[in-house]
Amino acid sequence: MTNWKIPLFIPDITGADIQAATEPIRDNWLTMGDKTRQFEEEFAHRIGAQYAVAVCNGTAALHLALSALRIQPGDEVLLPSLTFVACANVIEALGAKPVFVDLHSEEDWTISPEDLERKLTEKTRAILAVHYAGFPCHMDDLLAIATKYNLSVVEDSAHALFSYQKGKACGTLGDIGCFSFFSNKNMTTGEGGMVITQNESLAERIRLMRSHGMTTLTLDRHRGHAFSYDVMEYGYNYRIDEIRSALGYSQLQRLESNGNRRKEIYRLYLEQLQEMGEIQIPFLNRTEDIGYHIFPILLKDPNRRESFMQGMKKDGIQTSIHYPPIHWFSVYSEFRDSANCPMTEKISNGEVTLPFYPGMSDDEVITVCEAVKRNIVISRQ
Ligand SMILES: *Cc1c(COP(=O)(O)O)cnc(C)c1O
Repeated sequence: MTNWKIPLFIPDITGADIQAATEPIRDNWLTMGDKTRQFEEEFAHRIGAQYAVAVCNGTAALHLALSALRIQPGDEVLLPSLTFVACANVIEALGAKPVFVDLHSEEDWTISPEDLERKLTEKTRAILAVHYAGFPCHMDDLLAIATKYNLSVVEDSAHALFSYQKGKACGTLGDIGCFSFFSNKNMTTGEGGMVITQNESLAERIRLMRSHGMTTLTLDRHRGHAFSYDVMEYGYNYRIDEIRSALGYSQLQRLESNGNRRKEIYRLYLEQLQEMGEIQIPFLNRTEDIGYHIFPILLKDPNRRESFMQGMKKDGIQTSIHYPPIHWFSVYSEFRDSANCPMTEKISNGEVTLPFYPGMSDDEVITVCEAVKRNIVISRQ
């Protein structure tokens, strides 16, 4: 492991988290218990969702969401290509076809409602909307299209924990919202995820499919066979354990203070970098209450990116790329020429992600910004 002076991300784990996570081990109740139920209830309450189902990771959350919506072979699902590959993989896993939609603009890296409408076919069943870097998609437009063509909307809110559009949290705007608690997300359980919905029958199906499609004890008693169980769906084992749920519940308590610190760091970055001619910072005109997740910049000259990132590395500062377009990966090569996402390709070619986490000091942000200014000049030569 490289010893970065300033890494891309450091998870925020406190003594209270460690205390909470060890409790289920000491109590010898490791899975499917009160901690998970408490985590789900607290998450639903804080985010303003009717139903929340905790799962083992964010990819499982997406897979469950699309499974519960009965996405099947022959169906098409619209999604951006500038996102984590899990989004397309879960569509493929169900035998459905991902259809890549371009981004709004160089200023707004969310899915373009215009391009989305162009790529609709008779087979389109759902939209997978990704709130990139925490910035909400144009949900009014997406929901209007969804209503018009009878499509389901799944929100990938892995970046958008407590991001709001018109007072409603991301994840509560479409039919189903999916979250990830991987170690680099705004809250973490190591591995973990959550599926939320306002729809009772969808919630019931998601809960069943999380655990093999098996009925629970309560439901069994209700159905009159308390000593056996029934299987109602083709399900999976996407359960979370009590250790992670306890950690998640503990992490939730600090989300607001961490979110406030993220806002300060974001503002400081903007102050320092906004006037630089060589780079562009997206989403400058967004006024919503954002749960910032990463700090992406766009180099106006993509040819300088490699030497820029090398220079940052020499200075001990870790950078990353969010993301290579999915349609450029080998396994998705059938989409390479047909995806028709020129804005995505342009943005992806020049994108660099800078360090961003609530534990960053103001001095560290300034150090990163000075290195950005220095290395942009060096990369020109
Ligand atoms: C992290 C992430 C996922 C996948 O979540 P895991 O918990 O790693 O499975 C999906 N989509 C986006 C946009 C992500 O950032």
